[in-house]
Amino acid sequence: MKNTKYVFVTGGVTSSLGKGIIAASLAKLLQERGYSVTIQKLDPYINIDPGTLNPYEHGECYVTEDGAETDLDLGHYERFLNIPTSQANNVTTGRIYQSVIDKERKGEFLGKTVQVIPHITDEIKHRIQLLGNTGDFDIVITEIGGTVGDIESLPYVESVRQLLWELGHENAIVIHLTLVPYLAAAGELKTKPTQHSVKMLMQSGVSPDILVCRTEHEISEAIKNKLALFCNVKKEDVIQSIDAETIYDVPNLMLEEGLDTVVLKKLQLPGDKQPTLTEWNNFLKGFKNPKSTIEIGLIGKYVELHDAYKSITEAFIHAGAINEVDVHINWIHSGELTVKNVPKILKNLNGILVAPGFGERGIEGKIEAIKYARENNIPFLGICLGMQMAVIEFSRNVLGIQDASSSEMDKETIHPVIDLMEEQKNITNYGGTMRLGAWDCSLKEGSKIRHIYNKELISERHRHRYEFNNDYLGQIEKAGMIATGKNAKTNLVEVIEIPSHPWFIGVQYHPEYKSTVLNPHPLFVNFVKASLEHSLT
Ligand code: GLN
Repeated sequence: MKNTKYVFVTGGVTSSLGKGIIAASLAKLLQERGYSVTIQKLDPYINIDPGTLNPYEHGECYVTEDGAETDLDLGHYERFLNIPTSQANNVTTGRIYQSVIDKERKGEFLGKTVQVIPHITDEIKHRIQLLGNTGDFDIVITEIGGTVGDIESLPYVESVRQLLWELGHENAIVIHLTLVPYLAAAGELKTKPTQHSVKMLMQSGVSPDILVCRTEHEISEAIKNKLALFCNVKKEDVIQSIDAETIYDVPNLMLEEGLDTVVLKKLQLPGDKQPTLTEWNNFLKGFKNPKSTIEIGLIGKYVELHDAYKSITEAFIHAGAINEVDVHINWIHSGELTVKNVPKILKNLNGILVAPGFGERGIEGKIEAIKYARENNIPFLGICLGMQMAVIEFSRNVLGIQDASSSEMDKETIHPVIDLMEEQKNITNYGGTMRLGAWDCSLKEGSKIRHIYNKELISERHRHRYEFNNDYLGQIEKAGMIATGKNAKTNLVEVIEIPSHPWFIGVQYHPEYKSTVLNPHPLFVNFVKASLEHSLT
């Protein structure tokens, strides 16, 4: 059993400072030094999880192995650390209140008045220590979502205050991430917002141990001294986090600044083993020195907000680096595609990815794009809804079933080639009720997908309600689209491909969730390779 130490990361001044990336970079450095580390995100909103949130609100909903629908920061944690996260790694205020209220209904509080302190804070502290109590981790980094001073964040900051006392200062520390803005008119970096935000944190009884300061310009020694003086920290505990070209540079930047060194010192942990970041830097070398460029069309209905497809774009970065190619993404709104404009918009693409999604909007555009990719031998990857649309396109245009559809889009269709799963039919609640998390899939011998994974049994993560309708499998296969991946127990179709096409694959699961820096996903790696070959023809 390990004596787990805790690092809390709070944010001040503004949101979007990149707490998740700082937490992931610190974790990476500690991992390189031989510590087992995990990262947890506490989100101060009332939704039980982000599963029911519109992607425009919150970006992508990331799915873990155990089927938790989580914040997209968990994707960064997995991509940086190369280890899976779970439901315990993401907790929302909604979930905290739900457990406390459930306990109250069961009479577990013995007639007491249930209050924010101690009942809500006890539940928060319990959730924070759940990962530590597994005994698997030397260090748990807990990122508190939101900005210090927000009403929603107060119970979390209070829980951190209590834990710092209970665990002792050698076992728990606070990193406060702030912004040091540059005022162009004055030609100066300003420390006042940081001073105020630290003051705000102190009003809640928490003093930061380390300040990480986001900045567009180098922070001078004089400014570090000033921040140290006003914010109750030592100068060496003021860490600069300058804007980076890519998030993948941040571990190196934090190493240069010595963030991991000060963290280990404060936690009284040995820091003899230095991080080398060897494999990480090999990846960066490939990423930063591409030998050519390919044009990939990413077709979806939330393309205005790139964060809605975070894991997909990151998977392309990993796959591009290993192929030494710059994957240039063309963001294409499915709602804008028509029979007429598809050839013009898609003609210069080397690969077409039709993205996951929900609902009717934009699906005809997706179907037109798939038809174009199929007829023009352009490498095509369909993910989840993208795979379902490929089945509809094939049924309509190759099999001639004009009104083939999905019962998600057309409840009355007489040809639901994509249909609601039997076990979904009686579900009325939207939250957390899809087919979620990791499922096994066996790949057909001789298929392209089997060749790509180079094994028979794979496990991939899911998030959907609708499925390939096996009633149509015979006709579809006869016409040339083959189900090459199936779940052996349920017989559900997980992969389709068209062997007569150079590269046409649709997957019911989400490969993007499992791509990491050190383990780029084979499907993306091979899709990029095929697109590169297409670009050379
Ligand atoms: N809307 C589809 C379903 O529920 C696809 C979901 C997805 O693309 N993640 O089956």
